[in-house]
Amino acid sequence: MCGIVGYIGEKDAYPILINGLKRLEYRGYDSAGVAIIGNETKIFKKKGKVSELEKLVKNKDVSGVIGIGHTRWATHGEPNDVNAHPHTSQNNKFTVIHNGIIENYGRLKRKLEDRGYKFKSQTDTEVLANLIEYIYIKGNGEIDAEHAVRLALSKVIGAYGIVIISKDEPDKLIAARKGSPLVIGIGEGEYYIASDATPIIEHTDSVIYLNNDNVAIIKKDQLTLKTIGNDELKPLIQKLTMDIGSIEKNGYEHFMLKEIFEQPKSILDTFRGRVAADLSEIRLGGLFEVMPKLEKAKRIIIIACGTSWHAGLVAEYLIETLARVPVEVEYGSEFRYRKPIIYEDDVVIAISQSGETADTLAAINIAKEAGATVLGICNVVGASIPRETHAGVYTHAGPEIGVASTKAFTAQVTVLTMIAIILGKNNNTISDDEYTSLIKELTDVPKKVEEILKSDPIIKKISELYKDATNFLYLGRGYLFPVALEGALKLKEISYIHAEGYPAAEMKHGPIALIDENMPVVVIATQDNSYEKIVSNIQEVKARNGKVIAIVTEGDTVIKSMADHVIEVPKSHEAIAPLLTVVPLQLLSYHIAVMRDCNVDQPRNLAKSVTVE
Ligand code: GLU
Repeated sequence: MCGIVGYIGEKDAYPILINGLKRLEYRGYDSAGVAIIGNETKIFKKKGKVSELEKLVKNKDVSGVIGIGHTRWATHGEPNDVNAHPHTSQNNKFTVIHNGIIENYGRLKRKLEDRGYKFKSQTDTEVLANLIEYIYIKGNGEIDAEHAVRLALSKVIGAYGIVIISKDEPDKLIAARKGSPLVIGIGEGEYYIASDATPIIEHTDSVIYLNNDNVAIIKKDQLTLKTIGNDELKPLIQKLTMDIGSIEKNGYEHFMLKEIFEQPKSILDTFRGRVAADLSEIRLGGLFEVMPKLEKAKRIIIIACGTSWHAGLVAEYLIETLARVPVEVEYGSEFRYRKPIIYEDDVVIAISQSGETADTLAAINIAKEAGATVLGICNVVGASIPRETHAGVYTHAGPEIGVASTKAFTAQVTVLTMIAIILGKNNNTISDDEYTSLIKELTDVPKKVEEILKSDPIIKKISELYKDATNFLYLGRGYLFPVALEGALKLKEISYIHAEGYPAAEMKHGPIALIDENMPVVVIATQDNSYEKIVSNIQEVKARNGKVIAIVTEGDTVIKSMADHVIEVPKSHEAIAPLLTVVPLQLLSYHIAVMRDCNVDQPRNLAKSVTVE
């Protein structure tokens, strides 16, 4: 969730911090703050967006070459000025920014209160700041700041990425991680630290990813890495491959729109180098060694949250149809707490754009402990999930900044389609001809998406007509049912219109009661095996005066004669249709949200990577 940024070196810290916070604002944005070490530690924090913090700081003295900054996504205590980070301990010895949740904060807080500590905020973070200080002061000069931090962290249950300033040792930043990501950028006589690489890339491409239980003691010209238990570690320096253009809007009004329009390229990037030039074969190097396990799997369990869960549902149809392996699709949050039955010959596939989704990570660990083979499908290189899994595939969609996932979804579905095709071939459940034709179909997707994007003006006009609706229904069957769910989720998250996705045939078991002349119904109805059935479902909606917006195969005249609006997509194999039909739905929700004056890139209450439970 939240964004963390820190700097230590010889440059003015404030511009680096504020710029970094803007880059990270997509992660969390209910309040923001900075602490800068000058003659003393100056703290500015403010409810609202980073721009509110900038207004507060205007004309203030923010000089200093060491500092930390934070954008918050509140978990404990409402978003207000007091609860905003950084948090300072009672005697001002420590200033802390924190991403995550200290789960045992209540017990720790009571103990500290018993020892005379008073709390200004409702956050769990302030408890941590005071715990470190309590241990430090009690050490009576025997233990230094870093030691106090390590001792405090050994008493903490929960997840954290933290960066700390010590009043008595103002020449360093102390950072630590458990669960919540932190990456350190290495400059010349300077270091950067952040929740992800986006604030760092413009300064340096040499980075160190902190692992769980790592503590970094960072001086401007020296970095020491150790475990919480005080074992010294050798830092692994890696090169960032991301380029700066990929994290800027490049002339688009919003990141989300840019990312929707990037899909021809991001889908191509996802299968580039994995499909042979003569289209004879798909190879996924990351899965090479585990392929025998996948082939022998009695069952595949897919674990994900949110949009990634919808990609998982598409994969259920893909893998069961093409490779005839049973698939279960699970929410990480449910799986981890419901005593799941896991067999050693199960293959678990975890899907997460950020690779940091807390519930998915926890579920992975349960599956690993039970002896299953665990694979990851992630977009962010070097994130926790790729490091925790036995093998996996990166989606290579490039950084996704818009909070509502678009290109990451199509990249995930592209990878899952490749897995299903390979598995179908290896399991002899698809013919050689089908194998070759599916590869061809997949490689045709980028240009077909390009075609679909040309319908943007039509979709914008339709959006104008329905922008004031209070409810939407999305219907699809088979492969397109998960697309209906994803379309509804996109609309909900960025336009705040209530929307539900349903398998079209289920409509008559309940949602049909909602249909009247005010109810727009988006029907994904391309020509596939269940085409005739969905045509009947459209009739059922029209018979009740519902307004039908249909996504159809180009040239379809049957649905055109019944629906109020049609948006055409090029013809494809039904297994490929999710990759095409989701695109108009992304654009529909985008335009409706913009017309309703919603902040599409930073919708209320949401954060990009959900690193808390
Ligand atoms: N739990 C902390 C809070 O509520 C940190 C939340 C975050 O990750 O932004 O302030």
